[in-house]
Amino acid sequence: IISLKDITKVYKMGKQSLKVLDGVSFEVEKGDFIAILGPSGSGKSTLMNIMGCIDIATEGEYVLDGKNIKARNEDELAVIRNQKIGFIFQKFNLLMKYTALHNTEIPLILRGVSRKEARERAMSMLAAVGLEDRVDHKPTELSGGQQQRVAIARALVGAPDLLLADEPTGNLDSKSGQEIMALFEQLHKDGHTIVLITHDLNVARRAKRILHVRDGKILEDERVGENVPSEERVQ
Ligand code: ATP
Ligand code: MG
Repeated sequence: IISLKDITKVYKMGKQSLKVLDGVSFEVEKGDFIAILGPSGSGKSTLMNIMGCIDIATEGEYVLDGKNIKARNEDELAVIRNQKIGFIFQKFNLLMKYTALHNTEIPLILRGVSRKEARERAMSMLAAVGLEDRVDHKPTELSGGQQQRVAIARALVGAPDLLLADEPTGNLDSKSGQEIMALFEQLHKDGHTIVLITHDLNVARRAKRILHVRDGKILEDERVGENVPSEERVQ
């Protein structure tokens, strides 16, 4: 459903320009579960922003669900983003004033879905992530792992084609992180297409495929389970 061909991203800052992605090409098939693994500053979030139509590549072609994503106007990009992408962030990005239920139903209400239907769909998403008994809690009344579950329910409620997660376990203790990864594995089994960004090899190994990124380039496209991890192969 997704193809990137020779994606380059250059940030211009005054006279200086910084190339953070350099000839990135890969495809994502429906139902894939991919981890993008690389050290800090390697360009992972930049790549996620391009895949999520938050940002536009300087050069190269990005096709999402048959649509060529070019420098369109911001409104057009926002429509594509809202219809096709579900985002999950390290810092959860929930609205602190509102309950888990309201946080989850907001994307539907913004899309013009009726209050009643939005509520029903949000309730069933929260149940799917195991929070049916926490729907009236506000983010400050939830644990970190529970807040991330709300963020996942919110990302899924609009039935996106692609789920993009940037360091989803980065703010969690290891037990909550494990639980969130188990949830991603379940979502993969249910047929969701997931691209997860991480600098943690243990997190990446829960995916089916790992794209190893260094300095804005893909070094290796590894199928998990079929290969020895590249770190061990070096010697
Ligand atoms: P981390 O693991 O720390 O989140 P990352 O792999 O996600 O790192 P990016 O956020 O994609 O890295 O950043 C890649 C490089 O691009 C960094 O060197 C960063 O300083 C630079 N960069 C990111 N955003 C911008 C911007 N808007 N303008 C200029 N430079 C930027
Ligand atoms: Mg990042």
